[in-house]
Amino acid sequence: MKTLLLTSAEAEKAASILRSGGLVALPTETVYGLGASALEEEAVKRIFEVKGRPQDNPLIIHVAGPEALSEWCEAVPESAYILAERYWPGPLTLVLRCRKTGEPHIPDRVTAGLDTVAVRCPDHPATLEVIRLAGVPVAAPSANLSGKPSTTTALHCLHDLEGKVEAILDGGPCRVGLESTILDLTVTPPRVLRPGGITLEQLRESLREVELDRGLVLPGETPKAPGMKYRHYAPSAELTLVRCRDAEAFIQYAKGVPDEGTAVLCWTGEENAFPGKQVLAYGRGDEPETLAAHVFAALRELDRPEISRILVRCPEEDGVGLAVVNRLKKAAGGKILCL
Ligand code: AMP
Ligand code: MG
Repeated sequence: MKTLLLTSAEAEKAASILRSGGLVALPTETVYGLGASALEEEAVKRIFEVKGRPQDNPLIIHVAGPEALSEWCEAVPESAYILAERYWPGPLTLVLRCRKTGEPHIPDRVTAGLDTVAVRCPDHPATLEVIRLAGVPVAAPSANLSGKPSTTTALHCLHDLEGKVEAILDGGPCRVGLESTILDLTVTPPRVLRPGGITLEQLRESLREVELDRGLVLPGETPKAPGMKYRHYAPSAELTLVRCRDAEAFIQYAKGVPDEGTAVLCWTGEENAFPGKQVLAYGRGDEPETLAAHVFAALRELDRPEISRILVRCPEEDGVGLAVVNRLKKAAGGKILCL
């Protein structure tokens, strides 16, 4: 199959591919999504096949605004509208009860048979236009092969998906760079199932009480979001996440690791401290948003045959830093080294 590369001005073309049951990689503010009409079971099935995604891992549906909540969900609490009003379009996914009757409704293939559905409204003008023109909710997981780092540019999508999908819409690099925060509103108090661009601190300003899913904080607990139990985002090299008090401790640790085959993923300003090793800075330690924006692109850049080991400087778990550390821990297979 020839994969078309579309520009932001070609939203109508992308929408018509979706309406006719095709797949389009779409830009969002978080990461690129691999979109299909959520109402076309065959197209949704192809998303799983193309990505190699496990069948038990449900998809997020992307909608044009809060009015869609009552269309696809039932028993929608007031808090959903408060949050949608405040943070949509934006990197917040709400898990709500799924309407299972009436036509049309979201098929089980999207929700992996759960009685809930994850919904969000992406903050990218071209993709919002595509959703409006398609006139359907768009089911979209991240537009990468399963297990690999998420894609944050059209070029990354092309690398993973060329020849496998009808089109890729190039909307430039993603602003946030990490997937959305997932908030489960079907439990009391509401629970964060995946940290992301909207922080725990922001959610706690809007809702009285918000908890973190136990699967995010306690080793050995099964996460409630099915996708959070898989190893993810991993380059081929072994990744060691290093938590340390300061740059000096990290530099000293790196000195003890052989140069051959080692890459260091450090913070801006530290690049010259690792002579002999491959070095890449992924952002500023005191600005976790910059780390979030570049972490996936950095992991992709270091996915090279000559690199067998990657040492990553771990940020603090405040604000968006919580989401950055969550993704890096997954890329490291759960291992974190504390100096
Ligand atoms: P991705 O599309 O790759 O960002 O993955 C979507 C994430 O949302 C996965 O971790 C899914 O398991 C999770 N998810 C989707 N739908 C639900 C749901 N109804 N309940 C809990 N988690 C969900
Ligand atoms: Mg993903």
